Amino acid sequence: MNEEIPNLTAFDEAALDQAFARLERQAREAAALLSGEQAVEAFRLQWLGRKQGRLNEVSGRWLKTAPAEARRALGLRFNALKAVVEGLLDAALGSGPTDAALAREAIDITLPGTRRLTGAEHLITRTTNEIVSVFAALGYSVGVGPEVETDYYNFECMNFPPGHPARDTQDTLVIANQERRPQRDRLLLRTHTSPVQMRTMEMQPPPVRIVIPGKVHRNDADDATHSSTFHQVEGLCVDTNITFSDLKGTLDYAMKALFGSSVKTRFYPSFFPFTEPSADLQISCIFCGGKGCRKCKQSGWIELLGCGMVDPAVFAFAAEKQPAYDPKKISGFAFGMGVERIAMMKYGVSEIGKFYDEDMRFLGQFV
Ligand SMILES: [Zn+2]
Repeated sequence: MNEEIPNLTAFDEAALDQAFARLERQAREAAALLSGEQAVEAFRLQWLGRKQGRLNEVSGRWLKTAPAEARRALGLRFNALKAVVEGLLDAALGSGPTDAALAREAIDITLPGTRRLTGAEHLITRTTNEIVSVFAALGYSVGVGPEVETDYYNFECMNFPPGHPARDTQDTLVIANQERRPQRDRLLLRTHTSPVQMRTMEMQPPPVRIVIPGKVHRNDADDATHSSTFHQVEGLCVDTNITFSDLKGTLDYAMKALFGSSVKTRFYPSFFPFTEPSADLQISCIFCGGKGCRKCKQSGWIELLGCGMVDPAVFAFAAEKQPAYDPKKISGFAFGMGVERIAMMKYGVSEIGKFYDEDMRFLGQFV
């Protein structure tokens, strides 16, 4: 503890030196023991406090009682002492956090961290990207278009004339209150990504090589393999001298890239309004290798996608805006596949609804 400030009896230089040296020593000793903000504040009050601080007391007792000839010498020493005390206080304040404060805030870097969930591609997105990248490697670019389409782009220009029975194979979700519009302008949810084929041809002359990934909608009842909303990747290749051999070679390559090099392909006659001739592509069963199993209904083959040579009637619609699509001069092929169906096969998913359930236990398996 600091003792009380004594009264000074002598005011000569030696007596002043001694008295101030004693105070300075006391201040230095007290400052050396300071620890923590509270102690520093107490030190400040004890020495520099306006009312009961020791320097205030020195000024009251010594300066005021000093004879006139000693005041200057006393004042000089007083200011020097004050500077020392203020320096000690600055040092104590600037010396950083105390050991106790450091211990409170210490971080144990050996503790395990907080694991955060990172996003991952949904199986449908991943499968779409896999299919698109196979064709991108062949020089195809990606086309996109609106999900709400006109009757013209979804049906008419794809060679489904109004009233044509082929329209019945795609139960369509139509936008309400369109009755006053001409049929070709009525809006609907696209039933396939084929409208983007026409939109692309209208915008650029041949040659064209695009794949069109996208969401499509049909008025289907949901069951294990059907959903009213699903995803397709369609493709279109138009140039001079494109033949059915090009179609077969392209799709055979793509199936091997998607399902493995041992997969075989074969083509069966089929019908689509927008291709002529049309075919269904089948691949050898990826589960049994073609021997026959429950998945392929013992046939050894699985039907995977539809394809064919672009019908000249479709080119005639494109030629209305791009005359270069003259069916006599160019030819092309188109194909379309369901992303869900391919994802179910590749990843062994038995119910299409699992893709949309948002059940993390299911989706997390494929991360
Ligand atoms: Zn099989």
